[in-house]
Amino acid sequence: MEGLTGSEIAGFVVGALLLGATVAAPRVDGFIASSQRRSLGMCKRCGDLRIVACPQCKGVGSVRKAGMLNLSMLDDLYESLGAEAKTDNLVPCTKCRSRGRLLCPECSKTR
Ligand SMILES: [Zn+2]
Ligand SMILES: [Zn+2]
Repeated sequence: MEGLTGSEIAGFVVGALLLGATVAAPRVDGFIASSQRRSLGMCKRCGDLRIVACPQCKGVGSVRKAGMLNLSMLDDLYESLGAEAKTDNLVPCTKCRSRGRLLCPECSKTR
C-alpha cells in the first residue's frame, strides 16, 4: 500500500461509512418511524399532528376558480399584458376555509 497515507485511508473509511449510512438511513428511518408510531399509538395519517394538508388546495389555501377553456385563454392574455390574472383567479378554498390544512380525519374520529 505505497503512497497511501493514514489520513487517506481514514478518509476512505469515513467515505465508505457515510455512503453506507446514506443508503441505509431512509430505510432505517422509515422502519423506526412506523414502528415508533405504532408502539406510541400515534396516528398513522398525521403522526399526531392532528392536522393534514388539505387535499383540495394542496395546503395552499386557495384554489383556481373553475373556468372554461376560453377563460384560461383570457388568463394567458392578461398575463402577457402584465396583469395579475392569476391572483384574480384564485378563490379561497372552501374545504379548509383557506387555511390550507384540515383536522386529521383519523384523529377527529377517535378522539
Ligand atoms: Zn383547502
Ligand atoms: Zn391523525
